[in-house]
Amino acid sequence: MSGIYLKTCGFLYCQEEFYGRKNQVYCDTDCKTHENNRRASEARMLNKEYVEKYNRAINILRGVFKPDANRQCLVPKLVMQQLNFPNDCPFTPMKDDRYDKPFHAIGPFAYQLVGNNFLIIKKRKYGTSTL
Ligand SMILES: [Zn+2]
Repeated sequence: MSGIYLKTCGFLYCQEEFYGRKNQVYCDTDCKTHENNRRASEARMLNKEYVEKYNRAINILRGVFKPDANRQCLVPKLVMQQLNFPNDCPFTPMKDDRYDKPFHAIGPFAYQLVGNNFLIIKKRKYGTSTL
């Protein structure tokens, strides 16, 4: 492989300079394969981290959720910290007509911070027929 354009190989652990075609990214096909494998591996690891964090958050929410008559539950922020709740857990923003502020929805639960408490509810579509 050769060409007139001076390029830097796109494989993170190579980055050799080479002359190639205008749209050429890698110095050879091995580097292309290695970089594709490296990216796929990185994506799997990020995904695994994401799933673990998500599952941990759901387990903690399930453990503390003791709904009152309004089907909601207040848990002190301190308790959530002690349980090592992952505040950086990915969530879906969710509105509920009963509340002004949007919730962070994670699995069957949704929460928002109210003062020094987590206000936790169960998402309606996961609820029983009483909802
Ligand atoms: Zn290379």
